[in-house]
Amino acid sequence: QKAKFPFVKSLTEFDFTIQTSVSEKRIRDLVMRSFYRDGHNLLLLGPPGVGKTHLAIAIALEAIDQGETALFIRSDDFIEAAKEATDRYQMKKFLRQYAKPTVLVMDELGYAPFDAATAQILFQVVSKRYEEGSIIITSNKSYSEWGDMLGSSVLATAILDRLLHHSSVFNIRGDSYRLKEKIQAGVVP
Ligand code: ADP
Ligand code: MG
Repeated sequence: QKAKFPFVKSLTEFDFTIQTSVSEKRIRDLVMRSFYRDGHNLLLLGPPGVGKTHLAIAIALEAIDQGETALFIRSDDFIEAAKEATDRYQMKKFLRQYAKPTVLVMDELGYAPFDAATAQILFQVVSKRYEEGSIIITSNKSYSEWGDMLGSSVLATAILDRLLHHSSVFNIRGDSYRLKEKIQAGVVP
């Protein structure tokens, strides 16, 4: 099940020599011990273009290779899907869908703000998956900004508490890879 990956990139396609703030060994060790089977979460944090989504997809594909299921959703699509499920009185089905896969990739958390109802739904998803399934989150927001992002500091704390309890956090730094490619091509001076 390779649901809705925006692109397909592997770990071998990730150049760790130019992205030195991510330890290849740390990533490989996590994949080797199938971290997702223990309900262990990953947080890939950092500015745009540093490879967060690439890594999240590559790791989810490794899980699929190991026979696990993975679901990829961008957080703005999650917000939209949650509203639609609410309107159609399909919240039970919605929550089941997000609880089920071994790995849930929640991409670009923080670009779109959550309304109160959707933040509550995110909390339910995180709670349902707590110690059962794995969540890989990519975000450009620091923890202190989660309250604003979710419209509630109480919910943000409750969600972060569960997410971080069993987790590995990668603070990724550096310049945008997209921009680097453009500079090399002479598009940007
Ligand atoms: P982010 O999610 O952090 O904004 P992406 O993962 O979407 O960034 O990366 C942007 C593009 O650059 C993608 O095409 C990705 O494959 C590529 N990329 C980023 N970092 C690397 C890297 N270290 N090695 C190879 N490709 C990279
Ligand atoms: Mg991204």
